[in-house]
Amino acid sequence: MPAAASVGRHVSGRGAGAASGASGLGGGAPGAAGGARRAFRIVAVDLQRLDLHLAAGHRTSYGEERYRPVVLARVVVEGGDVAGGAEGWGECAALAEPTYDEEYATGAWAVLRDHLGPRLLGAEVVTDGDVMHTLHGVGRVLGAVRGHRMAKACLEMAVADAVLRRSGRSLASALGVETTHVAAGAAVGLPVDLGRARDEVAGAVAAGFSRVRVKIAPGCDVGPVRSLRSSFPDLALQVDANGAYGRDGARVLDGLDDLGLACVEQPLDPADLLGHAELVRRWRTPVCLDESVRDAADVDVVAALGAATLICLKPARLGGIGPAVDAHRRARSAGIGLWCGGMLQTARGRAVDAAVSGLPGFVLAGDLGAASPAFVEPDPFGGVELRSGSVKVYQGAGVGPPPDADRLRAVTVEEVSVVR
Ligand code: MG
Repeated sequence: MPAAASVGRHVSGRGAGAASGASGLGGGAPGAAGGARRAFRIVAVDLQRLDLHLAAGHRTSYGEERYRPVVLARVVVEGGDVAGGAEGWGECAALAEPTYDEEYATGAWAVLRDHLGPRLLGAEVVTDGDVMHTLHGVGRVLGAVRGHRMAKACLEMAVADAVLRRSGRSLASALGVETTHVAAGAAVGLPVDLGRARDEVAGAVAAGFSRVRVKIAPGCDVGPVRSLRSSFPDLALQVDANGAYGRDGARVLDGLDDLGLACVEQPLDPADLLGHAELVRRWRTPVCLDESVRDAADVDVVAALGAATLICLKPARLGGIGPAVDAHRRARSAGIGLWCGGMLQTARGRAVDAAVSGLPGFVLAGDLGAASPAFVEPDPFGGVELRSGSVKVYQGAGVGPPPDADRLRAVTVEEVSVVR
């Protein structure tokens, strides 16, 4: 586990994005959505690193998560027809190590500080009332840097929060989401200890979660899952391998096909779309892709190859809300079902996921509850309340509640103001 850095405020940034000067964001036709065209300028980009820890280890095929560093971005926008500035907060989903994905928290911190943050700072946000125009504009400015989608999603979320807060609108209303509650599911780690796994699933069911996702890996798959299914015959149960199997090794997973699982998620390597297409043809159980779908355009490739029945849509991993909505549109037109998996985020990231999960076509409950799994430290963004198996879609201005200053200070270990 990395040692906690000393708390301190540093001014940093090598101005990698400064050469081109202020950039114009947005780009939708003025007034296209019927709203007044307004320009905001990004006048501050600050980064904070939080040290959080999971109350219980979360085991997957690639390791065990306990330490959960979280990178936050705070942006300030000025302009429009309101005096003063409005701030917005974004969360980066990158984990402590580059195991789930190439991105990891320390790397995300560096690319945000040195490359993405400087490009965003000073840029002009043009909005015509359609938040998607603004978000696509953010994407174009950050698109000068290849990859690093989780880091980009962090800044995009912060800009969306600030602009929506400034406009007095919720993310849900900006996306056209009318539902006020969305169903929530829970995640359970590898069932190495079957008794503990059974208790965890029972606890999730008792808490009201309507779907449970269990991690699997070679050597810890069909036997324990079959046992869990016999204990919970009516539960929407799914498994997630995080790409741990080769094509030959995945033969053993044929033994899951009579269990009525909601899906088998990412059984093969993310790059093996043809292998997944073969499993779609071979199994009755839906095949879900998560890590394979890196951006919206990948959805078209997956659809063309018939490589998935379902896609796990994570705004935080796809590059943000804008790319996620694009991916959603493409999946819907291809007849691919959707659901939203969690990234062990704070309530900030989960608020975005809840709003996006209110779009049509989400066929499984998302990993939206706070207890999958919980943090040792209080969540600076307040937590998520589960009621009758659902969580509330945030209806206030912005993408979610702002952080509690005292809670945030208590878990912040490093701060940086980005400079151009
Ligand atoms: Mg997954």
